Amino acid sequence: MPKEYDLVVLGGGIGGYSGAIKAAKAGLNVALVERDLIGGTCLNRGCIPTKAYLKSAQAIREFKNISEFGIETNYDYKVDFLKIKQRKDKIVQSLRNGVSSLIKMNKIDYFEGEGSVLGTSIFTPKSGSVMIKPDGDADEIILTPKNVLIATGSRPANLPNIKIDEKNILTSNGILELEKLPKSISIIGGGVIGVEWASLLTWMGVKVTIVEFQDRLIINESKKVSAQLKKEFERQGIDMYLSTKVESVVSDDNGAKISADNDGNEIEIESEKVLVAVGRRPNIENIGLEAAGIEFDKRGIKVNEFYQTSAENIYAVGDVIPTLQLAHVAAAESEVAVDKMMKEDIPPIDYDNIPRGIYTYPEIASVGITDGTDGNQDQANHGQFDFKFNGKSMIMGESIGQVEVFSNKKNDDLIGVSIVGPHATDLISEPALGLYLNATPEELGEAVHPHPSLSEAIMEAARDINGNSLNK
Ligand code: NAD
Repeated sequence: MPKEYDLVVLGGGIGGYSGAIKAAKAGLNVALVERDLIGGTCLNRGCIPTKAYLKSAQAIREFKNISEFGIETNYDYKVDFLKIKQRKDKIVQSLRNGVSSLIKMNKIDYFEGEGSVLGTSIFTPKSGSVMIKPDGDADEIILTPKNVLIATGSRPANLPNIKIDEKNILTSNGILELEKLPKSISIIGGGVIGVEWASLLTWMGVKVTIVEFQDRLIINESKKVSAQLKKEFERQGIDMYLSTKVESVVSDDNGAKISADNDGNEIEIESEKVLVAVGRRPNIENIGLEAAGIEFDKRGIKVNEFYQTSAENIYAVGDVIPTLQLAHVAAAESEVAVDKMMKEDIPPIDYDNIPRGIYTYPEIASVGITDGTDGNQDQANHGQFDFKFNGKSMIMGESIGQVEVFSNKKNDDLIGVSIVGPHATDLISEPALGLYLNATPEELGEAVHPHPSLSEAIMEAARDINGNSLNK
């Protein structure tokens, strides 16, 4: 007899396990199906491991600058990359154990194997039963849930004419398995993954070249911020080919060679390794979408604002749907989906309030509209405060960057905040909360901020909109 559940979740990444835990805490009878490692991309192959590496890169930077703080040392440093990797693996393992115990504590039935949704049949009159193919020779298992949450995530995209071997030509998965740093690497794609790896590898002593199709890095941030990151990367010794389309990559025992079109000129770039970071594709294959009559296209599963697919008892969240591919977005979407299953009256997510963070040196973060427009050019007011005038950043020896605050010229509403500089990815939470609560720039500027703190730069930039900054 198929086992019955209130909810079966396909995929144990942050979208899947957050939804499963929320539903279980609300008293639903929940099963979670995962074919690989619990924790998914963010925990195992994305956010967490790369940020563990970035911490080691930061330690190197601080060591190199230590004399600025009045400390002289006769010691040199040596990067023990295997140890850095082992530290990363330990952090990932302990977070994975944490998620596993949350699953147990919340009495969620955990199934290892490949799950797919079934269409209607004589055994399953309503579409949405789930079949699990366990690893090995064990029999298939059928579950009959009232609702299904598909959170199968995404995988690295590739380009035609590139054969990924995860030895010399790597994806963001394979690069995390390296046990030795290469001498040089070319990174195809100057998006978020590309620039984060460029930053951390450069500080670890690897010669980095970025090859980007667009005429600027991190296309989703403002032109000003892209230009600032490029200048900072140049200072750090990173080579960049912009407006350059990679056409093919070949690899042999000595390394890899990229052939690319740079504004009409054929160029070749040689390096020991190549990282392909050209976006991620939704995992929509072999999960029964056609059989269950769920609409999708190559960008992912189609959903309404409550994440219901074309089969209304089947929901989908995270990287498998065409919204922002961010871990915190997947988690937030899964909570809305579970609320909807429970018939809660909930507002949909306002994607303009979602903070974005890029963990380079310097860090970059933004929320809302930060390119100086609110639909129309010249519609936004702009306030700015530079970290070089902020006491705390001077003390920290990190005075690169600025906070910019944008408001709508017609009604003075806060529309966006962009931060480049120390702890930008933490600082962005304050303006994100401001946007969520419909705060005005005046309110951001009037709220008393601790002194000395980096957050004063947000207050000053907000006040600068009306020319009221006292420190500028
Ligand atoms: P991306 O879409 O951000 O960037 C890919 C880049 O590759 C683009 O700039 C594109 O122009 C370039 N490109 C494509 N084809 C090319 C070619 N033939 N030659 C040269 N360049 C080419 O994708 P990503 O960096 O792979 O990241 C994937 C997703 O993961 C993104 O949605 C990102 O937001 C998410 N992510 C987020 C974080 C974070 O929030 N800190 C970290 C990592 C990944």
